[in-house]
Amino acid sequence: MNDATRLPGRDSLPYGVSSYYRNLAVVEDPTVDPIAAQFVPRPEEDIRLDYETPDPLSDTLYEVAPRLVHHYHDRALILVNDRCAVYCRHCFRRHFTGNSTGRLTPDQLEAICVALAERPQIQEILLSGGDPLMSPDREIELLLQALTRVNPNYTFRMATRIPVVQPNRITPELAKILGRYGTMWMVTHVNHPREITPEFRRAIDLVVRQGVPVLNQAVLLRGVNDHADTLVELFRGLLQARVKPYYLFQGDLAAGTRHFRTSIDRGLDLMDEIRSRLSGMGMPTYAVDLPEGGGKIPLDRGTVLGKEEGNYLLKGPGGKIYRYPIEGV
Ligand SMILES: *Cc1c(COP(=O)(O)O)cnc(C)c1O
Ligand code: SF4
Repeated sequence: MNDATRLPGRDSLPYGVSSYYRNLAVVEDPTVDPIAAQFVPRPEEDIRLDYETPDPLSDTLYEVAPRLVHHYHDRALILVNDRCAVYCRHCFRRHFTGNSTGRLTPDQLEAICVALAERPQIQEILLSGGDPLMSPDREIELLLQALTRVNPNYTFRMATRIPVVQPNRITPELAKILGRYGTMWMVTHVNHPREITPEFRRAIDLVVRQGVPVLNQAVLLRGVNDHADTLVELFRGLLQARVKPYYLFQGDLAAGTRHFRTSIDRGLDLMDEIRSRLSGMGMPTYAVDLPEGGGKIPLDRGTVLGKEEGNYLLKGPGGKIYRYPIEGV
């Protein structure tokens, strides 16, 4: 189940799905079932467009030590483990995910700590992969111990899909470890309301009780969640599970993922539609990772249209224009 087996003729992402996640699919047909679409490979994955790349986040461009990516001034990313409980067919980090680099070694961790000590501007450490919670508890604890020796005040961001794909991996013991070091936040990856199950809620509950707030990064996926009703149900369901929607990502230009991408226009329309139906707390930021390592930017239509006769022209709901005085400094 957790073995990464590469399908013949596919040099990118292995196939693998937990029995829990597989059971969430009603029919195992990726063309009709939003869960199946996320784990059943389709022939379209073999289509590679010339503007697609295995590394759309440009991790390799910003790698300052093996498995340490320093792209943004105050944040750094550690690729903790290449394994996942489910290999999401839309994965953006396919250059690394399931590529057999395995778990972070003690030597790699030591080198990362040296590199971090030389970069005191880094305040926040993203732990990602792959899925860092595929590592044993003991290794996760040793990792957090080593990092808090570099800086006891680090903010950690545990990027994991485990609550969604293997919720029973979140045990009371693991939740305690997560709450024990620095300031821990968890960022999970729910894309469809059917992924919000009693097991998911229980996993989130365990983590939140240890003082770890949980955020969600969803990906806008054609045939999975590219409808306003689905997104509203998803974000409302997350709030009810005590998870704050953080990002909704436009599909990155990851190799073999064209069939998942919607147009940015469609994404902007969906954001307009759900904004009128959801509380501000339920609204994520629609964002994209720019090609060529340009970084993440929010996508919106812009509400400050310009200035006229001492006023800003602001765009309100439905495109109506409002005036707000230019004052202050
Ligand atoms: C996304 C990302 C971050 C975090 O970006 P935020 O906008 O703060 O969520 C940090 N480092 C890398 C390499 C990233 O890809
Ligand atoms: S869990 Fe994350 S890293 Fe793993 S396959 Fe899914 S999207 Fe990629």
